[in-house]
Amino acid sequence: MSFSSDIKQILCETEYECPCCRTAELAGALGSTGRLEGGIIRFNSSSKAVSERIGKDLSGEFSIDLCGGKILIENETDVKRIKERLETFTAESECCRIAYIRGAFLGGGSVSDPKREYHMEFDTRSEAGAEKLIALLGDFDIRARRTLRKGRIIVYIKESGNIADIIGRMSGGRAGLEVISVQVEKEIKNSIVRLVNCDSANLNKQAKASSKQIAAIKKIKAARKWQSMPEVLREIGELRLRYPDVSMEALGKMTGQQIGKSGVNHRLSRIIEYAESMAVK
Ligand SMILES: [Zn+2]
Repeated sequence: MSFSSDIKQILCETEYECPCCRTAELAGALGSTGRLEGGIIRFNSSSKAVSERIGKDLSGEFSIDLCGGKILIENETDVKRIKERLETFTAESECCRIAYIRGAFLGGGSVSDPKREYHMEFDTRSEAGAEKLIALLGDFDIRARRTLRKGRIIVYIKESGNIADIIGRMSGGRAGLEVISVQVEKEIKNSIVRLVNCDSANLNKQAKASSKQIAAIKKIKAARKWQSMPEVLREIGELRLRYPDVSMEALGKMTGQQIGKSGVNHRLSRIIEYAESMAVK
């Protein structure tokens, strides 16, 4: 299975937070992908989980029998009322706006394996659909751009943090972290390569800071005081020992609370201060 279909599988297990979320997801899956524009409504996906979810939701929402689970609605009255409901639907609450984005992703989205590249896209197939999606993503501080490919309007996101963020939100927090951990791994590899090349004064500075931190940790350990240090300090210290070459940002992402650079710096400084205070005693 591809990374995209793995993510879609997880998204298909997401529960709706409010009754309108289901409508919102259908509006995203069918509306943003241009599937409401013809005289019939047809939906198929290479993912079985997606077809099943959309089919189940359509028949639940509009009391329609789908023959053999195939999503093809040709009855004029049915098509008309589905269109009316989904085209006029406005996602008001946050949960529904996320559900709309999730629908758009299930209906026309894909995401590359972060081990290769950071790229997420939505095939919107309509001008209005693209604009609406970009605006909704913007509500969550996610900057999406658009491009034309073979006459289709593609909305895409390139930044790894944004991709992880939106996958996390769409899945109710159950996916997204794997994207972040791949990002951390990548950063570790990159920083090791850069250190070996020694081509950056900044990284030399980072390497010096790191060896000072490691010396402090080893000194405290040698004095058998490490186990009595606060747990937050030991956590960051052990990570520093294991990953001597990574940046403080990357270390922070590996902590349980995912602390930021200044938090990491603060904790490592406290370790150094402690080690130094041991010397004068
Ligand atoms: Zn909702």
